[in-house]
Amino acid sequence: MVVKVPARCVIGVDLGGTKLLAGAVDAERLTVHHRARREVFGLDQSALVDAAVDAVQEASEAVTGEVQAVGFGIPCTFDRRRGVAVQAVNLPLADMRFGDVMSERLGLPVEVDNDANCAVWAEARAGSARGCSDVALLTIGTGIGGGLVLGGRLYRGSNGGGAELGHMVVDIDGPPCQGNCPNWGCLEAVASGTAMVREAALRVAREPDTPLGQALEEGRALTGPLVTELAFDGDPVAAAAIRVVGERLGVGIANLVNIFNPQVVVVGGGVIAAGEMLLEPARATMLRRALAPARDEVRVVATSFGAESGMIGAALLAADPDAAE
Ligand SMILES: [Zn+2]
Repeated sequence: MVVKVPARCVIGVDLGGTKLLAGAVDAERLTVHHRARREVFGLDQSALVDAAVDAVQEASEAVTGEVQAVGFGIPCTFDRRRGVAVQAVNLPLADMRFGDVMSERLGLPVEVDNDANCAVWAEARAGSARGCSDVALLTIGTGIGGGLVLGGRLYRGSNGGGAELGHMVVDIDGPPCQGNCPNWGCLEAVASGTAMVREAALRVAREPDTPLGQALEEGRALTGPLVTELAFDGDPVAAAAIRVVGERLGVGIANLVNIFNPQVVVVGGGVIAAGEMLLEPARATMLRRALAPARDEVRVVATSFGAESGMIGAALLAADPDAAE
């Protein structure tokens, strides 16, 4: 089905380590008209570029309006001066001029940014932090991504390396961090989805006679979604794992509140499926640890675009790159 899009149409692409989501977005009404998905796990660089081109073309062909530009959100650090991805943990994009390559292949202007930068831009422009000038975002999945909008502008740091909020240290002698991070005791090392599963594993080993213990006994894999599902059903071990991760998250949020004095801290990523089970202890910990007056007015809320915030933010950046500057 071809949808008529009278207004400005842009394509947003969220390029993750395993999946790619491309959407044809009406940049004025912020409606998504077509979604194209591709599996990208294990692809080499040229196959990955082909998959991205193919998904963008599918999304473009599904709308009749003229496509203005394409935005990409990618989970890696960038050197914006050179336009290259520097560290891409799960994608074969390091040292590639990704934006230039895609622009040439697609024949359209292309914007590329870190996926969490895209997500915080979407939330600040049109989501949970709509209308706010100062916003921090944590996206919690396998790792923890971070994004900042400060004074109404997307904060990228001096050469594009900001804002890796997941790598703030919250435990000076804590466990080693993940991926390419040389640090230890980072928020990502203790409050990611990976840490939540580890916490549940430690607790269920001590208390196997619980619904979680029985589920593992029946052969179910210990994953974040399983922990969340059983916590909603009242399992005490699963609920405790989520609570302790929420409290650690609150320590990180207290740091953000003290340093940036944001109006809103938005929490997204797969782990936010736990909802208030995660946010309530995070908020309580932040209130105990952060300074007045910043702590008194900040809201700590879930993302409103969910798994699509990166894709929508990439589209918004492509539609109007100057708005973020
Ligand atoms: Zn780290």
